[in-house]
Amino acid sequence: MPRVFVIEDEEDISGLIRYNLEKDGYQVGVASSGEEGIAKIRPFKPDLIMLDLMLPGMQGLDVLRHLKGDAATKNVPVIIVSAKTSETDRVLGLEMGADDYIMKPFSVKELASRVKAVLRRTAPAPRRQTLQYKGLQIDFDSVVVTVDGKTVHLSPFEFKTLQREAGALL
Ligand code: CA
Repeated sequence: MPRVFVIEDEEDISGLIRYNLEKDGYQVGVASSGEEGIAKIRPFKPDLIMLDLMLPGMQGLDVLRHLKGDAATKNVPVIIVSAKTSETDRVLGLEMGADDYIMKPFSVKELASRVKAVLRRTAPAPRRQTLQYKGLQIDFDSVVVTVDGKTVHLSPFEFKTLQREAGALL
């Protein structure tokens, strides 16, 4: 399941995020400051980061700058969690490479859908599953079989059989 790391100093909010994402099957890590977040984020290897902008000590935008400047985290999508009042920071954050934002107070439904949408948008394209043997090529994703470059039409049953046989070769 996807791993989400939350950097948020307000325990009520990080608790709410954690509870609801875990309920949906995500693995969740939490830090209550930017410094703590940066220290814990590398070993956690998140698929998504939720970042509060108003933090004690190191500010959210500085945390974002750090994350985007670190090879280990620069490609991890970030959702900014911010108060309505910090519009300028939110815009800056998006310009700095954040993928989306969610405004406090947010509903549990909104949280779930934003997280899902960002993960879907940023997921790496799955490697195409193809098998090649001499002139034969089987593309398991698009269910296309070609022999010497010519498409062979197979019934679903035939394709399944071929897939099973080919599976033994893989
Ligand atoms: Ca805060």
